[in-house]
Amino acid sequence: MVDTVDICELNMDELTEALKPLSVKSFRTAQIYDWLHKRGVLSFQEMTNIPLSLREELGQRYRITVMEAEDILISKLDGTRKYIFSLYDGNCIEAVLMRYKHGNSVCISSQVGCSMGCRFCASTIDGCVRNLTAAEMLAEVYRIGRDIKERISNIVIMGSGEPLDNYDEVVKFLRMITDENGLNISARNITLSTCGIVPGILKLADEGIPVTLALSLHAPSQEKREEIMPIAKKYRLNEVLDACMHYYRKTGRRLSFEYSVISGVNDNVTEAGMLAGLLKRFKGASRGGRDGAFHINLIPVNPIKERSYRSPDRSTLMRFKDTLESEGINVTVRREMGRDISSACGQLRRRYIENAGSGSD
Ligand code: SAH
Repeated sequence: MVDTVDICELNMDELTEALKPLSVKSFRTAQIYDWLHKRGVLSFQEMTNIPLSLREELGQRYRITVMEAEDILISKLDGTRKYIFSLYDGNCIEAVLMRYKHGNSVCISSQVGCSMGCRFCASTIDGCVRNLTAAEMLAEVYRIGRDIKERISNIVIMGSGEPLDNYDEVVKFLRMITDENGLNISARNITLSTCGIVPGILKLADEGIPVTLALSLHAPSQEKREEIMPIAKKYRLNEVLDACMHYYRKTGRRLSFEYSVISGVNDNVTEAGMLAGLLKRFKGASRGGRDGAFHINLIPVNPIKERSYRSPDRSTLMRFKDTLESEGINVTVRREMGRDISSACGQLRRRYIENAGSGSD
């Protein structure tokens, strides 16, 4: 365990305040912040334009986020990289780099595990161990950028964890990653995915950080949603959609509805029709842009060994998609990145923990 303060948890104002007792001038503070948040250094020793005495002083008071890559799986098909990182307390998380024509996108975790209980998801099987700090979420991005020596242009908060269940640290992360003193990634290039924590969606709409909101919908009715997502009992479908509408009106950002398609559970044509009906009101809300107010992202469910869910066959999936499209809805089927190193959300981490526990590699 490390008992010093994680210096990466401090934003520019907080760092300035913290370094006052050390009589650090403002240009030096800016240099230190730059090393930490633009260059993602792993030690104070790397800060070569900072006087040695100050580097030593910093090293005694602070640590730089402890996060080691325990394993990196690299896809031969498309260059996708899946990382297992260990944290200072021995926990581990996963993050994924996806390479697209438009740039490098990193999918980050927001918690160690998750307490939401979605039936098809591996991240939630052992519950939530703890929240990640803003610094740890930043480090997921910085470490991957450092590994590939390229700029990261997009971020999706779609790894393990429910970001709105870790609201304060996630918002802090968003402020720091969009800060011009840091990586300065535009909020437009960030997507936050939630299972539908209504108060969190409403609050986020007022933060002035217009990230794209992705809602994990997964069912066209309250009853079906409750069956596969326990959180639906707490935040009912209508309330969640109202909150999404509020988010859209406030930010103008096109909404994304995620729909994990599960064979025999939520994949028939009637359900596709119900889904189109459910989202009709968003069509009316469109501000007339080319793409409308929302799109649906179909994710063929990624089977996990702990559950019997299977993904639909191609023709069923296409029928589902065609039904939505015939209603004038924008639909994409999620392209599976890194098929050869495939693993569902949270599965890699589980496999890693299980293997470590049994002493095998
Ligand atoms: N807690 C957030 C982010 C987590 S995962 C949320 O619920 O949105 C990101 C997306 O992957 C969610 O839509 C989630 O429901 C989906 N997902 C998780 N496990 C999956 C699996 N095995 N197959 C398909 N989609 C899955």
